Amino acid sequence: MKFYKIFVIILILTNSLLGKKSFYINNGVDTLDLESKNALIFLENYFNDFKSDTLPKFQNYWSKIDCNKYKIPDQLVYGISSDYPTYNMSDKITILYIKPTKDFIQIKTHFAWIDTLETISTLCITNHYIRKDNEGNLSFVNPIDINTRNWKKKTLRNIEFHFPNNLKFNIKNANKLILNIKKLEKEWSLSPIQIKYFYTNTNEELQKIRGFDYSLMMGNREKPSGISDDKDNIVYCGGLGENYFHEVVHIYLNKLLPNSPLREGLAMYYGGSMGMDLKWHLKRLNSYLEKNENLNLNEFEKFYYMDNFTNPKSTIFGLLCKMQIEKKGLISLKELMNQNSIEEVFKFLNVESKDINKYLRKLINNEVE
Ligand SMILES: [Zn+2]
Repeated sequence: MKFYKIFVIILILTNSLLGKKSFYINNGVDTLDLESKNALIFLENYFNDFKSDTLPKFQNYWSKIDCNKYKIPDQLVYGISSDYPTYNMSDKITILYIKPTKDFIQIKTHFAWIDTLETISTLCITNHYIRKDNEGNLSFVNPIDINTRNWKKKTLRNIEFHFPNNLKFNIKNANKLILNIKKLEKEWSLSPIQIKYFYTNTNEELQKIRGFDYSLMMGNREKPSGISDDKDNIVYCGGLGENYFHEVVHIYLNKLLPNSPLREGLAMYYGGSMGMDLKWHLKRLNSYLEKNENLNLNEFEKFYYMDNFTNPKSTIFGLLCKMQIEKKGLISLKELMNQNSIEEVFKFLNVESKDINKYLRKLINNEVE
């Protein structure tokens, strides 16, 4: 899943955020309580350890068990963008709430940015749980462990499914996923990857298990969605049950093609998007382009948004992947995926920048007829 629009805005607004972060404390938060105060200092140090170009040493903040289990134990870090740490996206960080309980201290933090008119926009509200061991050392407790404590688990081949108690495991769907995975492994000559696959009925439930009370990806009409963590091989899916192949494709193939601008397209070619296949999105894109004759695809970068369901760029990239593999084979697709920018991609396809509009409109139209 990509959120081009949101992501671009966030990056523009946060490029200047390189130094030490400032923290504000909301009215009513008791910072005189010694344990709360220590937990707060621990959290602030952690946030400050996210530099512009490096992540913290997680073993300084997370338990040994978590560090053995995950490369990045904190599932909030890439919970909004898979490329950019959540904690570096905002220029106003406010501690909203501190709650000491017998097991841990819970802290809710509000991340926001302020525009030139001093309007506040909220990026997210997060939960962190901080525990003190017998020697007095502090460490985070993973929100996933707390929030999925009563979940069910089912393992099939290389996929460990995790799902809430109120959902029934659909073996047919799970088998379809496994079949797709086997085909992908065979085609790309890959070995199985052990994947943790968390699924719920809605995207908002998924956000909550990771520790978000709110993120700007919540709200609006519910639609199937997913996000993958290719560092720790975790898939999160809301609304499509056991067979969200798109996100699994990211886990298998992202690592092989680290610089390709077409990775989203490749996942769409194999796994569709939001439960609908590439063809469905191409048909929608085609009718949109027919209705908007003046839209100039030569200015390709500007066409990142069409509506809430079809991402035009990913759909076009999906089609380019499809065309390449079906007409020229996997080796040629890999060559295409080795291009590092969109300009290079069109150059590789022998399309001059002044002809992109004509070329793509024709290609899309031919595909849906
Ligand atoms: Zn994706």
